[in-house]
Amino acid sequence: MSEKGITDQRVLDAMNAVPRHLFLDSSFLEHAYMNKAFPIGADQTISHPYTVAFQSSLLQVKPGDKVLEIGTGSGYQCAVLIEMKAQVYTIERQNLLYKKTTQLFRKLHYRPKKYVFGDGYLGLPEHAPFDSIIVTCGAPEVPQTLLSQLKIGGRLVIPVGDTSQEMTLIIREEETRFSQETFGEFKFVPFLEGKK
Ligand code: SAH
Repeated sequence: MSEKGITDQRVLDAMNAVPRHLFLDSSFLEHAYMNKAFPIGADQTISHPYTVAFQSSLLQVKPGDKVLEIGTGSGYQCAVLIEMKAQVYTIERQNLLYKKTTQLFRKLHYRPKKYVFGDGYLGLPEHAPFDSIIVTCGAPEVPQTLLSQLKIGGRLVIPVGDTSQEMTLIIREEETRFSQETFGEFKFVPFLEGKK
């Protein structure tokens, strides 16, 4: 992975520590990859971990950071952040996936600080502000709610776009001033409203 430009050693160490195959069974594929936003095929097993590494690097997680993740899915990204010693608050909107990943976290002893079945568009105002927020589904636009739940200096990593998404990093520089940078195209399943 380092040859593809991921040089953050803490991210690489965390990814080496998480048994990725246990997060990728058929049931996860059925729910998390529906709508085929990820190409199902050989490429998937390569591009997906790269995306996790890329987003994790942009977050610049420090031990003890409060991190909000939107789209728990398989729990893999969450596990990587836990290995990086973040306190992870994570939200999933699909109940079947939520239940399944609850069991997996239990089995593998990964403990998110909070694991919520709900709509990520709302964030978690009762636990805000966060050091960083990672959105792992493709957002048509940047939700203001999430921006408002960042600490000053906090980072939001969010793929923005409809059919494909531009990886976007937004930093809350001051209370009402945000900076923004983009990092190329990715493909995610859509960030959908509500829960089911
Ligand atoms: N981080 C996950 C990525 C899974 S794919 C992993 O490591 O496996 C993205 C996930 O975002 C899907 O599980 C999808 O159900 C979820 N999602 C989409 N819209 C959402 C919303 N509004 N709130 C919470 N989760 C959402």
